[in-house]
Amino acid sequence: MQHEEFRVKAKEMVDYIADYLENVRERRVYPNVQPGYLHKLLPQEAPEGPEQWDHIMKDVEENILPGLVHWQSPHMHAYFPALTSYPSIMGDMLASGLNVLCFTWASSPAGTELETIAMNWLGKMLGLPECFLNEKNDSPGGGVIQTTASEATLVSLLAARTRSLMELSKLNPEVQSAELLGHLICYCSDQAHSSVEKAGLIGLVRMRYIETDEEQSMRGDKLEEAIAADKKKGLVPFWVCATLGSTGSVAFDNLKEIGDVCEKHGAWLHVDAAYAGSAFACPEFRHWMEGIEKADSFAFNPSKWLMVNFDCTALWVKDSTALHRTFNVNPIYLRHENSGKAIDYMDGDKKIKKNPLRKININITGTDLTITNDDEFSDEENATANEEINEHSDSSDDLYGDDGNLPGYNKISPGCQEKPQLEDPTKKEFLHWQIPLSRRFRALKLWFVLRSYGISGIQKHIREGVRLAQKFEALVLADPRFEIPQTRNLGLVVFRLKGDNTLTECLLKRLNARGNVHAVPACFKGIYVIRFTVTSPRTTNQDILDDWNEVKTVSSEILLDIFG
Ligand code: PLP
Repeated sequence: MQHEEFRVKAKEMVDYIADYLENVRERRVYPNVQPGYLHKLLPQEAPEGPEQWDHIMKDVEENILPGLVHWQSPHMHAYFPALTSYPSIMGDMLASGLNVLCFTWASSPAGTELETIAMNWLGKMLGLPECFLNEKNDSPGGGVIQTTASEATLVSLLAARTRSLMELSKLNPEVQSAELLGHLICYCSDQAHSSVEKAGLIGLVRMRYIETDEEQSMRGDKLEEAIAADKKKGLVPFWVCATLGSTGSVAFDNLKEIGDVCEKHGAWLHVDAAYAGSAFACPEFRHWMEGIEKADSFAFNPSKWLMVNFDCTALWVKDSTALHRTFNVNPIYLRHENSGKAIDYMDGDKKIKKNPLRKININITGTDLTITNDDEFSDEENATANEEINEHSDSSDDLYGDDGNLPGYNKISPGCQEKPQLEDPTKKEFLHWQIPLSRRFRALKLWFVLRSYGISGIQKHIREGVRLAQKFEALVLADPRFEIPQTRNLGLVVFRLKGDNTLTECLLKRLNARGNVHAVPACFKGIYVIRFTVTSPRTTNQDILDDWNEVKTVSSEILLDIFG
């Protein structure tokens, strides 16, 4: 495809997208296809020669679209919303067209700086404490866009794991890291998303699930009990994940209580607010965030409710040094003359404040490890600790000029890594913030959305979603055949037919088979429910009424079939 054809076909594509979104309400939201349907429709091999664009688009309309779940439909109530908006689509279009990679500042200065600015705007819009923002040159806090909440959780867990291992190995230089790792334990609620469990699996650490209260909330006393018992067994609590807005029922862990427990035991507190984070744009919902100042990291998905299309997860940390300690590598080909003077999101920050390691006094006898005291190292001890860390890194200080840059820059062949992996995090070179190196220009779509809607537009959108969920809740409560076993929070209503679980299971199965509305289930202590999230920004009162009528019609059929 050449420039001229692109101009024509891309404009047609814009019309195609606009028509799709304008009319998506009319489409069957859940596809009527069986596994393997597409294999029967498309050839087994790629074409030998180029095909006409119009032939390709014909296949999209005839074969691909009918096999999609239409996530932007107002009748989509499954999972959590994954909203898009025209400003966001245009941000992604532009980012795709430019296709710049923003790993170092030098690889795309505006890409990097716009991300910092947009993340600060976003953090302020949610009312995050200043320590998470990236505004002051000597502050170690800051935000970075990740692909998903799962990745943000993993990054946080790995950073906390490194912090703890460094503290433990400082005090037990003779003990192997692998052995110390076996003593680490982390915590989350029994309602935490499966991605938290996955982070523990990848991080090779034990995870304890804390039983939640009747509101599905993890409380401080239960966490304290578990931590105290684990410490007696010689385990080291190093990371706690609190969920604000659980996947099953949008329940909120008690952040204030959990923060106190984490502070007492020196555990890193991560907050997973994947869905509910967007609601904190509205001050009336921020009471759930009380205690956020005690968190070490906070993540939410603008790609869920904030109308920034997938992928976009906002992660803030109070101390980016912990990320740099975890992810730092420093090959010569990524260095640039402004290294250390600007953020490199794969890497380096402005001046990084050296954050103290905390002291954990432990005795290891055989495999027993006991913690006798949690304290901070003195400045002197910290300096020694950091020096020792540098010893691992071959301390090639002579490679660096006074400004921290590499005088020998051009003389070393690309790919030659003369600095090993474990570096002094306070060296203003490459201070990584994430797992991948390359990164899309995601800040563009976020910035477009923030500017196009403004804070007031975003608040209006969130409040409208909550209002429509309240409307649906009222309709359910007015029908004596139904019940709502969990409190509705924000835009999610969980409901069921009174009686045996099989009634509700049957209802959901038939609803999805008819394809006019789409929802997924959850289960709370043996109680089966249907989750109904309000999704599209275009959802109207009438859509909610239509969907409720569909639920009522199918329910009447089922009750008639079963009870006559
Ligand atoms: N955390 C919570 C509370 C979620 O509800 C979800 C997904 O819905 C996730 C994490 C995972 O999100 P992602 O798909 O961005 O990894």
